[in-house]
Amino acid sequence: MLPTIPFNKPYLSGPETRYIEEAVRSGKISGDGVFTKKCHQFFEQNLGFAKVLLTTSCTDALEMAAILLDLQPGDEVIVPSYTFVSTPNAFVLRGAKIVFADSTAENPNIDASSLESLVTPRTRAIVPVHYAGIACDMDAIQAVAARHGLAVVEDAAQAIDSYYKGRPLGSIGELAAFSFHETKNIISGEGGLLAINDLQYAQRAEIIREKGTNRSSFFRGEVDKYGWVDIGSSFLPSDIIAAFLWAQLEHLESIQGQRKAIWERYYAAFAPLTTQGIGLPQVPDYATNNGHMFYLVTRSLEERTALIDHLKHRQILPVFHYLSLHKSPFYANKHDGRALPWADHYTDCLVRLPLYYELDESLQRRVTDGVLEFYAGR
Ligand SMILES: *Cc1c(COP(=O)(O)O)cnc(C)c1O
Repeated sequence: MLPTIPFNKPYLSGPETRYIEEAVRSGKISGDGVFTKKCHQFFEQNLGFAKVLLTTSCTDALEMAAILLDLQPGDEVIVPSYTFVSTPNAFVLRGAKIVFADSTAENPNIDASSLESLVTPRTRAIVPVHYAGIACDMDAIQAVAARHGLAVVEDAAQAIDSYYKGRPLGSIGELAAFSFHETKNIISGEGGLLAINDLQYAQRAEIIREKGTNRSSFFRGEVDKYGWVDIGSSFLPSDIIAAFLWAQLEHLESIQGQRKAIWERYYAAFAPLTTQGIGLPQVPDYATNNGHMFYLVTRSLEERTALIDHLKHRQILPVFHYLSLHKSPFYANKHDGRALPWADHYTDCLVRLPLYYELDESLQRRVTDGVLEFYAGR
């Protein structure tokens, strides 16, 4: 029997366990150690973020952003319905009301042209999600935000090393959150990053991340003792996690090169399917592709189910993705009732194909052959 092709396989660049051992031997394995500093420097120098803080997940980075915005109960935050639950949940935890926006017809990103009509006097922030690492229409989003004095928090969980008009994603909004979960391009098992582009949030971000204390200032010698100065939680990862992440960051270029090559081969193989009405990822002129994800958009839910079954019989494991959050058991009765047809369309019809570093050309050909065989004569 042919080997199974999983949807994802975490890639180790090589020195991960050696660096973890170094971290352990250094005798300091709590947060903000040597490897954390290396990672921070990398992001600030290579990706242009004004200030960054490693967190234990993207979810935590989003929760920090929600605290930093000082949201009050009843404040409104605009979030796409087609996203991971952490995007809105971080704000719900602060008592905010979520106003869900639809996706665009071109790709699952938030429909920037719908935002103006969703703004009310209680609106405080917009949270665009760069789905599949492809940039949202940031100029249009920033224009609405500027007009109404709203903050923009980028959910850049999938968007490492991707760009909008030449600017790194995650460097555009006041705040941005990245994920290093094992399903992302650069991984540490679990892990995340808060990028702080508006430095008015920098000092408070350090405090919130250190349980509401000014311990970071204390370690820099700026105060002679540290204490409880604000709300906060324990958002900083152990240096063991940072050691793993550092091994990945050192190999960012080769990881990205390989993932983009796989993505390009999928795109070339499936381009002819568009004449049958099958959707492929669309990368607008202002955006880049970072090889995070390759998906197809089928013509119906039935067709997607049949395609997934067809591939599973060939030991290939594609997966669908989000379920519209405005219809979720938790939020359906809180949603204002607006239909969000594109979010529902991607809920039913989007399917993600295997994409991981070790997916070599012969394995990938099994996937492309399987899909093309399914669509032959349909
Ligand atoms: C993966 C992901 C998250 C959550 O990341 P964690 O690091 O697992 O908390 C949030 N938003 C989006 C869009 C994601 O893809």
